[in-house]
Amino acid sequence: MIHSEDGSSSTTLPRLSKSKYLAWLQCPKRLSLEVYHPEHADPPDPATQAALDMGTEIGIRARGLFPGGVLINESHRQRDEALARTASVMADPSVTAVFEGAFQHDGVFVRADILERDAGPNGSPHSCSWRLIEVKSSSRVKNVHLDDLAIQSQVVRGNGILLSSICLLHINTDYVYEGGDIDWRRLFAIEDVTAAVEARLTRVPDHVAAMKAVLLSDEPPKVEPGRHCHSPYECPFWNHCTKEKPDRWIYYLPGSKELAGRLAERGISTIDDIPADEPLSPSQRRVKENAEWISPGLRTALQSLQYPIHHVDFETVMLAVPRFPSTRPYQSIPVQWSNHIEEEPGRLIHQEFLHVEPTEPRKRWAEALIESLGREGSICVYSSYEEAMMRQLVEAFPEFRSAFQPILKRLWDLHEVIKHHYYHPRFNGSYSIKSVLPAVVPSLGYSDLTIQSGGQAAAEYYRMVFVETDWIEQATVRAALLQYCARDTLALVELRRALQEKIGG
Ligand code: SF4
Repeated sequence: MIHSEDGSSSTTLPRLSKSKYLAWLQCPKRLSLEVYHPEHADPPDPATQAALDMGTEIGIRARGLFPGGVLINESHRQRDEALARTASVMADPSVTAVFEGAFQHDGVFVRADILERDAGPNGSPHSCSWRLIEVKSSSRVKNVHLDDLAIQSQVVRGNGILLSSICLLHINTDYVYEGGDIDWRRLFAIEDVTAAVEARLTRVPDHVAAMKAVLLSDEPPKVEPGRHCHSPYECPFWNHCTKEKPDRWIYYLPGSKELAGRLAERGISTIDDIPADEPLSPSQRRVKENAEWISPGLRTALQSLQYPIHHVDFETVMLAVPRFPSTRPYQSIPVQWSNHIEEEPGRLIHQEFLHVEPTEPRKRWAEALIESLGREGSICVYSSYEEAMMRQLVEAFPEFRSAFQPILKRLWDLHEVIKHHYYHPRFNGSYSIKSVLPAVVPSLGYSDLTIQSGGQAAAEYYRMVFVETDWIEQATVRAALLQYCARDTLALVELRRALQEKIGG
């Protein structure tokens, strides 16, 4: 028995869409689960949801490049109305562009972001051919975009519409905002991808037929999870598909999933089964050995620290549409820092900064940070990100160069120290602070916090500063951001102290 999308039983196949087509290309099981068992999917995390929201905003902005275009605003639930209105709007020769046009062919329903009517022979808009344009908030063309355009082209052409070219409109990260109004024509880049899409079109009918065959049964096909689950998108069914895998499953081996894939093909299903002569990287070797390891170099590394020891973490925001002069789309803009300072063994103070207005944050951020870091002591960080941010800031504001040069020399990267000198089996091969902290300092985590990841912090910052108007909600987000960043630097303090104890204090 086949079920329709609203959950009722019927004998007809569910209607296909371009998102289902892309799900199929990633994995037939994903398609089946999306249609028949969506309840097994993990909901999008806040950072993914923010990226989706940004994509929607970019799509709306892009329409401004096509003045006079007509929006088909019937919702996704009003499919028949959307199809009828699209046909009627496109039949009007005075319409130069259609946004969100609805089309159906061979059981596949799509909405096309933009269809622009080609100019007629004398520059008039009365041509019967169209340019299909897909809008993406990414900074370049990806294979998945070409597949997206291939299924759309197939469906649009199946309605007898002549497509003269097929294009992707994406963000141009070379655009530098100079202040004032955004130059939308320079912020966006339109790439003609007709040839690359045409090359994929011949395979579309076979793929659609195969999708229908899979959906004849509501039993998902048997597909082993593996590398394909993470590309081009993280599959939301990963936890569902891997829930019965052993703790030491071969795909938990860190590093390239290619090696894990090759080992799995040889029938090796757990890390413990990897043959002794298999060439592994040092961190993969540690995971295989599965035992705590302390290098003799850990003592030297820790003893190189000088009081007062600063423990610093930055949070940044990346804006698709830049808001501050001399910045580019998706440039990381620092907006927050936290500094836990151990002035002498056991004496800890905390300082922090968060820019809460929709104004250029970087100068105030830098001035407050320079004052907090002072001129003495080591500066403990957890990655090279903080160094990169300071160097980027100095490029933009050379007046800070002399202050940051000595600061950069005081940086001490705990991530590198742990990677080279310490391993705990509960790291499971990951040296991210979210894996290392619960293994070394089990009493300290993030689960009690509203914000639990850097991606979520960036999304919440954007909402607090640029979207939210309710001051109570703004204050709530502000408190959550401060708590999150402070936890990151407290984690550095506790990690460093725990390592110190491991070498005997
Ligand atoms: S997790 Fe992997 S195997 Fe499972 S549905 Fe997704 S892509 Fe397919």
